[in-house]
Amino acid sequence: MANGLRFSQMQKPTSIRELSEFVEQCDRCPRLRAYCSKVALEKKAAYRDQTYWGGPVGSFGDENAELIILGLAPSAHGANRTGRLITGDKSGEWLFRALFETGFSSHPKSESRTDSLVLTNAYITNVIHCAPPENKPTPEELIQCGRHLNLELNLLQNKKVILALGAIAYQQTSRTLNLFRAQRFTHALEVQVPDGPLILCSYHPSQQNTFTGRLKWDAWIEIFRKAKTRIEQCSTGPA
Ligand code: SF4
Repeated sequence: MANGLRFSQMQKPTSIRELSEFVEQCDRCPRLRAYCSKVALEKKAAYRDQTYWGGPVGSFGDENAELIILGLAPSAHGANRTGRLITGDKSGEWLFRALFETGFSSHPKSESRTDSLVLTNAYITNVIHCAPPENKPTPEELIQCGRHLNLELNLLQNKKVILALGAIAYQQTSRTLNLFRAQRFTHALEVQVPDGPLILCSYHPSQQNTFTGRLKWDAWIEIFRKAKTRIEQCSTGPA
């Protein structure tokens, strides 16, 4: 892995593919890089025979997508193991089933970087691309990885709906799109960015939310139906 790559030390990524490659070589956050490597070495008993990814996890999906899904961070034994965002844990099971049922994904399950899953008109990224201890990035780490998100949203020219999974994703999206007086996060909140995309909010499909019933399947799938409707409305214009 390259050491301490900065935009200033190399040509700034000019495509989504270049940015993803850049993110996967990043080591701006020593605490997170050390934690991901440690987890990858120690492993969870259930995954003892697997080789963990253990590095920053790049975004993936359709570069021309109108739906951008913004999660929080790779989980220690999920994306930090599989190397694909929101893959390898319970959150991923909910996400890809919903994407499949609403026509954005070729498969209802995401298993690894090398499976045959294809996203159509959808793109998945995270606020933070390295797994943080206890799923809690520091403010400084949010700033560091926010630079990637800023560039990414500029490169995703067709974005119409940004689905923010959880309050931190919503706050980071608002900051990146210069919404300085953002409304308070609630599930199903819709915020139209002037001359920009619609931000649609949802509770994150983490076990903390799905096991407790805070997020139920009906409310979750409705978010994707709404995203699809809003995209169609953007394409056809006001009635
Ligand atoms: S969290 Fe983001 S900025 Fe920090 S090391 Fe990982 S990829 Fe780089």
